[in-house]
Amino acid sequence: MARRKIFAGNWKMYTTLQEALDLAKGICAGASGVGDREVVIFPPAPYAKAVADLCRGSNVAVGMQNMHFEQEGAFTGEVSPPMVRDCGCRYVLIGHSERRHVFGETDDLVNKKVHAALKNDIEPVVCIGELLEEREKGLTTEVLRRQLDKAFAGIGADYMKRTVVAYEPVWAIGTGKVATPETAEDAHGFIRSVMRELYPGDTADVLPILYGGSVKPDNIAGLARTGNIDGVLVGGASLKVDSFLEIIRVK
Ligand code: PEP
Repeated sequence: MARRKIFAGNWKMYTTLQEALDLAKGICAGASGVGDREVVIFPPAPYAKAVADLCRGSNVAVGMQNMHFEQEGAFTGEVSPPMVRDCGCRYVLIGHSERRHVFGETDDLVNKKVHAALKNDIEPVVCIGELLEEREKGLTTEVLRRQLDKAFAGIGADYMKRTVVAYEPVWAIGTGKVATPETAEDAHGFIRSVMRELYPGDTADVLPILYGGSVKPDNIAGLARTGNIDGVLVGGASLKVDSFLEIIRVK
């Protein structure tokens, strides 16, 4: 089985409803010719349903940026897995660095959310990555290993066919400091080697591993030429139709 290529845009807490619809319309129109890769957009939760309705019939899928792990309950302000499905979302970001480092999400919480997503037939994009001080202390592989071990604890191999990992070094997110293709490729190779230890057969070989962190039209080409980077998760540059299309069209 070939590895899927996935190009995703995380809109974070940006756009008005009208801007979200205009952006989605432009991306759907421009993405119609990129048949060999999946395009996924993550709008703000209140706009997810409207964006998913607009994208229906196109080759652009929609995801939620975050999700609670319970099916329902007294959790004011949270979004449940069935709500994610009802909104037409096929994907969910889990453990994005802003969730971990701004909102204090732990590895245990990430693991609960991964379980909940897969049980509800939602494909988790599990984000991992080291802080700058962890990289500077030589702890990158240790941090990635811990995040992978914890995120996928109790997740069977059969579920891994519907799972995506995103390597997003925290020091590269929203900073303009992209990892070099060599640095990113090293981390991706390491992540795949850990997944080979955790899962049997070709599970790790078919797992899409995306890079995220200041991806722009002018740095995508180098990243796309590596062997273990199977697509990208783009923040800032996914908020403009032209720059996102340039990224998803990379050869
Ligand atoms: C992100 O939001 O996941 C991200 C990588 O952001 P940016 O591309 O802006 O660094």
